[in-house]
Amino acid sequence: MSLSATDSQPVRASTNRSPDPFIVSLEGVRKTYGSGPGAFTALHELSLRIPRGRTVALLGRSGSGKSTLLNLLGAVDRPTTGAVRIGGVNIATLSDEQLALFRRRRLGFVFQSFHLVPSLTVFDNVAVPWVLDRKLTGARRQEIESLLARLGLADKSRRYPDELSGGQQQRVALARAVIHRPELILADEPTGNLDAQSGRVILDLLVELQNEFGVTVVMATHSEEAAGRCGDRVLLDDGRVVGTSGAVEVGPIGAGVAR
Ligand code: ADP
Ligand code: MG
Repeated sequence: MSLSATDSQPVRASTNRSPDPFIVSLEGVRKTYGSGPGAFTALHELSLRIPRGRTVALLGRSGSGKSTLLNLLGAVDRPTTGAVRIGGVNIATLSDEQLALFRRRRLGFVFQSFHLVPSLTVFDNVAVPWVLDRKLTGARRQEIESLLARLGLADKSRRYPDELSGGQQQRVALARAVIHRPELILADEPTGNLDAQSGRVILDLLVELQNEFGVTVVMATHSEEAAGRCGDRVLLDDGRVVGTSGAVEVGPIGAGVAR
């Protein structure tokens, strides 16, 4: 596989050559933080597969490894051992620069605390991936304005994040996460900082956009209501999968599907 920063569509081309029915495939993944006596293993020999087009709730008490797993799925971090394949690409084969491109072009992120760029307007926050790729055409500007309008933010386009409520900021983050049609959206407690009503709006929109774009959503959440909006569940405890429901396959390939 050849990937380079100058290639216009490097990673998509490779997906077309080897379509993978699973958007996510982990094989024997362990994640250990640190080394020596202070080392801590946050994920133990995880093997699981998520088919495309699903909504997956990642459940488990605080410290069970949800964010660690999302960081691996988001190509933000690399596993200590084992293979993480996202959209058919083993992320271990990518350089840091290729990983950054991969994240920008093929993934979308939603965080508990929004993570918008405070010095950029709402419009520019959403446009970031296209600006970085020098692909912000007139048509794409229009697309951003349309999506913002649809998310109830038509009059906020030129505002800055700190002029918006939490619910509005999270809607901007949602727009940023879907505007480039990613294959996979990773959401870490997306309603955790919102009141119940704003949280509900975000979940409704997330599910609506998921349906429309056929993207896969993996969402870590403590909220039973949020989990109830997802078709599939994965329950983590102490870095191990202790339960699943829906279409997620757990266990090594060829060992049958453990539930
Ligand atoms: P969750 O998101 O389910 O609350 P995390 O994935 O954040 O869980 O953390 C899982 C475990 O890994 C916790 O015990 C946490 O303290 C530990 N951990 C997370 N990040 C680090 C890190 N960078 N260094 C050391 N330990 C970490
Ligand atoms: Mg977490």
